[in-house]
Amino acid sequence: MPSHTLIQDGRARDAARFTDPSDLSALDSNETIDVLHIANDTDLESLAFALGRIETILIDFPAYTDGRGFSLARQLRTKYGYDGLLIADGPLIPDQYAFALQCGFSAVHIDDETLKRHTIEDWQANLDDFDLTYQRGYAIKAGPATSVFDSRLTALDKRKAADPFFGHSAELTLRKAIKKYQGDIVLATSMGVDSAVLLHMVSRIDPSLPVVFLDTGKHFRETLGYRDDLVSRFGLTDFRNITPDQSQVLAEDPDGTLNQSEPDACCDLRKIRPLEGVINGFGARITGRKRYQTPDRANMAILEAGGAQAKVNPLAYWTAKDVTQYMRQHDLPPHPLLALGYLSIGCQPCTTRVTPGEDPRAGRWRHSEKTECGIHMVDGKWVSSETKATFEAF
Ligand code: SF4
Repeated sequence: MPSHTLIQDGRARDAARFTDPSDLSALDSNETIDVLHIANDTDLESLAFALGRIETILIDFPAYTDGRGFSLARQLRTKYGYDGLLIADGPLIPDQYAFALQCGFSAVHIDDETLKRHTIEDWQANLDDFDLTYQRGYAIKAGPATSVFDSRLTALDKRKAADPFFGHSAELTLRKAIKKYQGDIVLATSMGVDSAVLLHMVSRIDPSLPVVFLDTGKHFRETLGYRDDLVSRFGLTDFRNITPDQSQVLAEDPDGTLNQSEPDACCDLRKIRPLEGVINGFGARITGRKRYQTPDRANMAILEAGGAQAKVNPLAYWTAKDVTQYMRQHDLPPHPLLALGYLSIGCQPCTTRVTPGEDPRAGRWRHSEKTECGIHMVDGKWVSSETKATFEAF
């Protein structure tokens, strides 16, 4: 028997459990059936009485052009209320993956020949187009009586008009944005507690993408070490370490204490001026901003295409928990100061720990009225501002 792969949640899983499924003759006993294999013309009435003791049903797809298995899955979920694992078994193609999930399948089971024609990335991409807007396409037994297909499509059209990337996962957003703004897009990173997520994603899509870090000369040495570790670990080949103009630093902050006497002037010298010249040269910028972070971001689109510079926010719909999960899933190293209670990390003189329950940004410029570094977007460009507007990356 050729070896098989189970594709579940867009990922390849071990399929050993499904190599020797039972056939319909197993229904004759009263034992629990671990995996039952059925043909796509099976009369479901003949197994309805035993569904409560069947853990998994594999439905045969002899060819991807034969869609009878989809109907069986729908009936099992809707008419019979089957709540075990349902697996489409056969040479399906990635384009059918989302539809299979909507019909009630939990996963697909494909052989090596099929996997050679379409890689795991093809299956993932199909799921990515689908994940945030996923709804069951069948009415569950105790749920609403009608299908959600039509209402979902209408709502989706409206949301796509407002945000062309609506519904895309972070990875798909990055892939599409990098393609759309080819050679004219930059990722600005603070090397803070969330930064590894986007850097890791970018490294898997295009490690030659320009990545900009603003090295103010005042960072924690842990941040600089983290920067070096991530850049090397992810193989980022166009990493740009931006520093203030040293002659200006010598003239305006000769003893390095400007942050104490005039923090706005210090940010202007060490952040705004060095960054403006670099970031504004790109047509699009990738940010790590998230909707949950501030009221101004509550309705933020994934792609903000208006203005002189487009903003791409792949993590717009992410929560802090999503970040943690992604970091764990990909075994990404945390910022070394996170464990010491620093939840938002900027320059060392202007950053303190926060206590449990405090707003993560309470540790920035703690003993001052200042809440932002003064870097803001106006008409799509980075500019200095006296107002306390949206914090961006630094
Ligand atoms: S955050 Fe503090 S040290 Fe860093 S540039 Fe601004 S004022 Fe200066």
